[in-house]
Formats: sequence, C-alpha cells, structure tokens
Amino acid sequence: MAPRKLRFVVHEHHASRVHFDFRLEVRGALKSWAVPKGPSMNPAEKRLAIQVEDHPLEYIDFEGVIPDGEYGAGPVVVWDAGDYTLEKESPDLLEFLLRGKKLKGGFALVRIKGRGKGNEWLLMKRRDEHADSGWKLRSALTARKKKALGT
Ligand code: MN
Repeated sequence: MAPRKLRFVVHEHHASRVHFDFRLEVRGALKSWAVPKGPSMNPAEKRLAIQVEDHPLEYIDFEGVIPDGEYGAGPVVVWDAGDYTLEKESPDLLEFLLRGKKLKGGFALVRIKGRGKGNEWLLMKRRDEHADSGWKLRSALTARKKKALGT
C-alpha cells in the first residue's frame, strides 16, 4: 500500500509584519515556520525560518482575515500548496521534495545551532532541475483576493 500523500501549505500573512508561514503535515499536525522573506526557488537565498507552534491540520486550507485585537491580525491567503515527500528527518534537519504550484523539488530546513531559543532554522532550496537563480517572489494577495476577503 502506497503511503498517504503528505501535504504542505505556505500562507502569506499580512500581520503587522508581512511574513510567510511554511507548514508541513507531520504526524497529523502542521509543523510551522514563520519565514519573514518567504521561500525562494534560488538555492543562493537561504531564508530565516522561525519555528512556531504546530497548527491543526484543518488549518491547511484557511484563508481569511484575522480580526483586529487578535494575535496575527490581518489577511491570510494561501500562497502555495501541494504535497511533499519527506526524505530525511532528524531533530535538526528536514529534507523534502515539494510538489506545489510555485515550490517544486528538493528543499532543506536546517536548525541554526547556538542561536536564539533553538527555534531559528534556515529554509533553502537544493540545487536540482527546479532551482532558479532568477526567481522572484510574487504576492498572492492580489487586488481581487483582497476584495474577496472583504479587506
Ligand atoms: Mn503568521
């Protein structure tokens, strides 16, 4: 029996500071990292990724506006989503293959040792046929999306 496909999502979150929440389905929950600059398809752009609390799997499709006064107030949209294969897992390293619309191929998350509270990681694209040194991140919070969210 083939293993069930694991899913991932990247939420673009316009809180007081715009960031991207990178979430991987791991053992029935969403392991989550806040990536201030967002992921990149360029292997030369290593992105700081701050691990935050796991989110429930049901949150994977969430889009909406977190109300004023609540933590993370502001619009949240799905920037990318798809499934992935976990290739390597240790307490300080995850290697995986993403099959999203924007993010494709090999990536690694590596914990930065001896810094912060141990919650700082680097998200990086591996060098493979999907790598793109000229890649530019484009916002998914388009005017049409904003209107749909009522912002
Ligand atoms: Mn967030």
